[in-house]
Amino acid sequence: MTAADPAPAEAHSGTTTHPWPIVGHAVAVDLLARATRTGQVAHAYLITGPEGIGRFTLARTVAQALLCAAAPERRPCGDCSACQRVARGVHPDVSVISRETQAASEERGDAKHTRISIETIRNLRATIALRPMEGRWRVAIITESERLSRDAFDALLKTLEEPPPFVVLLLIATEAEALPDTIRSRCQPVPLEPLSRSAVAAELTRRGVPAAQATTIASLTRGRIGHALALAADPEALQEQSAAVQAGLEMIESPLAALAAARRLADAYRRGQRDAVERQLDLLLGLWRDLLLLAGGCDEAMVNADQRDRLAALARSWSIAEVLCGLTATYQALGDLALNAQPRLVLDHMVMQWPQPR
Ligand SMILES: [Zn+2]
Repeated sequence: MTAADPAPAEAHSGTTTHPWPIVGHAVAVDLLARATRTGQVAHAYLITGPEGIGRFTLARTVAQALLCAAAPERRPCGDCSACQRVARGVHPDVSVISRETQAASEERGDAKHTRISIETIRNLRATIALRPMEGRWRVAIITESERLSRDAFDALLKTLEEPPPFVVLLLIATEAEALPDTIRSRCQPVPLEPLSRSAVAAELTRRGVPAAQATTIASLTRGRIGHALALAADPEALQEQSAAVQAGLEMIESPLAALAAARRLADAYRRGQRDAVERQLDLLLGLWRDLLLLAGGCDEAMVNADQRDRLAALARSWSIAEVLCGLTATYQALGDLALNAQPRLVLDHMVMQWPQPR
């Protein structure tokens, strides 16, 4: 076991008997499977954890388990009309609220910088106040719950205080702490953790991904099974990711390449490609973190394990203090960009703080 694989017990406890098609998250699945099977369901659950970890998949599976037409012990069967319509997002008793569904219903294109509005929550409240159309339950899934506006939280609180008896709310958030206490205290917590890398790699292999590639994807996605499956299914994204890692390594190996790349990133940032630049900085952060792990001798937890030789050569030429300097400068740059500092100054400064290769 390594520092990056803290929870193998969760991923490997295979004692459950329910048919839920969820990889890992055994504690959460046990809780929810028992609740849906017995009908002893809380009115609201708060599913938390990092993005790409399977939070929405779990919420959707709860909706299937509640609405499935099969015998209780076989729910969710995945085959009945209810299960299939929930999976396709067209079941009349399931509402999904996200910034994307809100933007689509308002016929706007930009979901990124908006919050979920009070109108959206009011509409949801009106829908879930009605008796279910088909099944015993109405299910509402709110993704990115931390993105509700203050008014929207107040409106949601009214439903949480007096929920119709047939309503189950499934709130998804990165951290419980990002929600108001009044909301949080009325939800049953369902915290999810990243899976162990070995569990992610095993699942990818089971789905036919070659073993070496499965290991690489499991490392890159740091135990986030949703991201891992998406990456494995998208050869183009995998190639882009690998090209971005090469570009990052070249930056760290050569100060000249780093300065030129910093200028390109600053230009891209100014042209509005903020997400792409932040992803590249995030990836650089991962490379510096790997260098620190190599320098400290705990390299099993590396993210870019397939670049071990190149990274090890760099790590050998620096002291731990120098590597730490590279890591903190990169971290600082990400923070400064978020605070709207001048991208060119921030990125130039970042690469100038990095240690010089010897
Ligand atoms: Zn079913």
